[in-house]
Amino acid sequence: MSPFWGEKFGNPSSIHGFGRDAIMALDEARESVARFFGVKDGEVYFTGSATEADNWALWGIAHGIAKKYKTPLSALHIVVSAIEHKAVLAMAQRLESEGVGVTYISPTNEGLITAEAIKAAIRPNTILVSVMYVNNEVGAINPIAQIGRIVEQERQSRLNQQKANQLQAISYKLPIHFHTDAVQAVQFLDCRLDYIKADALTFSGHKIYGPKGVGGLVIRESVPLEPLIIGGGQEADKRSGTENIAGIVGLAKALELTTVWRASGGAEKIKQLRGALWQGIKSKVPKAMLNGPALESPDRVANNLNVCFKGADGESLLIALDLVGVACSAGSACAAGATEPSHVLQAMGRSEADVRASIRFGLGRQNTEEEIEQVIKVLPDLVAKVSR
Ligand code: PLP
Repeated sequence: MSPFWGEKFGNPSSIHGFGRDAIMALDEARESVARFFGVKDGEVYFTGSATEADNWALWGIAHGIAKKYKTPLSALHIVVSAIEHKAVLAMAQRLESEGVGVTYISPTNEGLITAEAIKAAIRPNTILVSVMYVNNEVGAINPIAQIGRIVEQERQSRLNQQKANQLQAISYKLPIHFHTDAVQAVQFLDCRLDYIKADALTFSGHKIYGPKGVGGLVIRESVPLEPLIIGGGQEADKRSGTENIAGIVGLAKALELTTVWRASGGAEKIKQLRGALWQGIKSKVPKAMLNGPALESPDRVANNLNVCFKGADGESLLIALDLVGVACSAGSACAAGATEPSHVLQAMGRSEADVRASIRFGLGRQNTEEEIEQVIKVLPDLVAKVSR
């Protein structure tokens, strides 16, 4: 990244030599990202965050379809899960205020969105389904390829009906697309669009040890997409604003390194550490309860441990842990330091007290066995201090 803050400081929109260096770096990064997701270079757009990419996917597809099919927003319907990151939920609510119908799908009590629930929610005028690949709070891995297949079947069936000219209703002329927020999945799971049957996917730099403040949207060229940020026409006129070259180069490199790390079995080590942490917690704090799918289940990503310490005050526990150098989260760490009760645990049917008593340990590539032992050592006393 560092040359792009110094000797290669050019703007990719400039035609002079410095600009050409920048554009070459941008092209190479796009090519590499496209390879990671199994798409064409022109199907990768860089953004300033995953939040922007999520916002854009929902807003851009709804407005893109309304424009292309000359349909009012109020004639459109979208399906999102109730456990999405706020970047999706807040935009779904905005679209609702613009007239779009929105169905919010509740998870199972383990935090999973089933393909059946999605299928049942699709209406003739549904134009978009958005379900996250991995939930950031409880680590649940949604059956994304199954959901993608349902959307694909619905699209095909609409085309067949149209061809057979059986239906004249405007809604059957509308396409349906599938977007997934894969921010938490990229480190661990196959994210090629063909494999997961998605038409659009959000990713971010900082969840894969890349830079903060850079993300992207991968989207099939066939999907109508209105730009959300307009101006100078960068990113093929879809996302204006001078590109963050250093950030983009770093993001592409982080994806390449993730591929290498995955192949080296890195996730297995994180999983073992997490298992040891959970065993230690359970043996020392018997009232601890796991939130989300079982740790050994294939439905849970390797780095997440979300625990309810029944009767404890989660926020006080976070502060007490922080004072001894242990960094944890409650709710979503990406929600600007907020310790609002988690909408994810609430949607999973947890009581308010249990939601407030829950905290999340996110394990990473650099964590060690000694650190796990240290947490297990300090935790019981701290839990006792913050419990009723
Ligand atoms: N989506 C998910 C699932 C997340 O975990 C996050 C937080 O990192 C985001 C979206 C928002 O990402 P960003 O902070 O890049 O806007």
